Amino acid sequence: MFTFSRRAEIIKPSATLTFNAYASSLKKAGRDIVLFTAGQPDYDPPRLLLEAAKHAIDHEKHSYTAVLGDKTLRERIASYLTKYNLTYKESEIAVSSGVKLALANTFLVLIDHGDEVIYPRIAWGTYIDMITLCGGKAVACELNEQFKMTPQEMRKTITPRTKAIIINSPSNPTGAVYTKHELIEIAKLAVEYNLSVVSDEIYSETVYGHGHISIASLEEEVPGIRDMTCTINGASKSLAIPGWRLGYTAAPENVIQKLDAIQGADASNAPSIVQFGLSEVLKDEHKVALEAYFEEKRQLLQSRRDMLVAGLQEIEYEGKPAFDVSIPEGAFYLWVNSAHLKNPRYGATSIDIRDRLLNEAGIAVTEGSAFGDDDYVRFSFATDQKDIEKGLQKLKTYLNTAVSV
Ligand code: PLP
Repeated sequence: MFTFSRRAEIIKPSATLTFNAYASSLKKAGRDIVLFTAGQPDYDPPRLLLEAAKHAIDHEKHSYTAVLGDKTLRERIASYLTKYNLTYKESEIAVSSGVKLALANTFLVLIDHGDEVIYPRIAWGTYIDMITLCGGKAVACELNEQFKMTPQEMRKTITPRTKAIIINSPSNPTGAVYTKHELIEIAKLAVEYNLSVVSDEIYSETVYGHGHISIASLEEEVPGIRDMTCTINGASKSLAIPGWRLGYTAAPENVIQKLDAIQGADASNAPSIVQFGLSEVLKDEHKVALEAYFEEKRQLLQSRRDMLVAGLQEIEYEGKPAFDVSIPEGAFYLWVNSAHLKNPRYGATSIDIRDRLLNEAGIAVTEGSAFGDDDYVRFSFATDQKDIEKGLQKLKTYLNTAVSV
């Protein structure tokens, strides 16, 4: 008989991963379901990356690498980050097995028992789990109408125990993207209160309309911010390889040295084959091809976004718009207010609505409560056009024929 640790009792399986796996298993078993749950691209990685990884296997790149990753890869990641006006050296990069591990180890480096970390109230739920695992306290910051933290709201959450701020731009699940001005204001606050910034930029290649801005690049406007920021990014979304597990933290050398020790204790290096594959793709000679890949995928996702937004806006329920849709500026999710469906017919919570849509309409979405707001559901548009059309049709038919009770 085991008695479990307190942390094992507190942390629950990821709601989003569990439901996506369940809905996918129903589909695999033959049920006619359109999945809007995926947190991963449905298209292929760049051909060059696949070939480079195969090459690494054929050339027996099977050994451990340095805990922080292959030196050349770290140099090339530093070079890639210059596109966001970030200036890191190889010694300021730590490569990890996915962004999740990069974040978790970064929090282990920064957070002590009882330390408080400010996060956007509507956010990827894993942040709260990670901070809790470190013995810290996740403190939600209220958001403005565009789902962004403001210095005014952040000030309300700061206490003598506040240690760090999480920024996630573009955001999962809202798609909110912070402007340069907004990041400058947050950076000033971080410097004023000496708060570390953990900036999760995993969706940086999926910003529609204008370029991505990294808070650590704003050193000229806010002296000190670069060296207070851990910039975290990875290849799961941008290169469509979530299963390969590759993420990294870019931060001042003293943070990276601590990460070396912690990662040496809990994980060692990221998979060697993946590291050598990525290293090849990030070579200067492939820059143009890589940028073309990003641009092609961005355009594809934008057209899907527009199609899903237009389709959802048309759907009515009992003479009123069924959903209130805000158009995301980044990432590949729609954060959709579905409070109008909270009624005796569909249930009182976003989980009830999610379950009805799955069981009665054949559509899988993720409940908003997994991200901190029960009035919403999340649609992923990393889903092909035909499925989006089919899903919209199913939803329309279902809501138009559903009988109120
Ligand atoms: N950060 C955010 C905001 C995410 O949405 C996700 C995955 O959905 C991750 C991190 C995890 O990334 P990785 O697959 O590299 O661990």
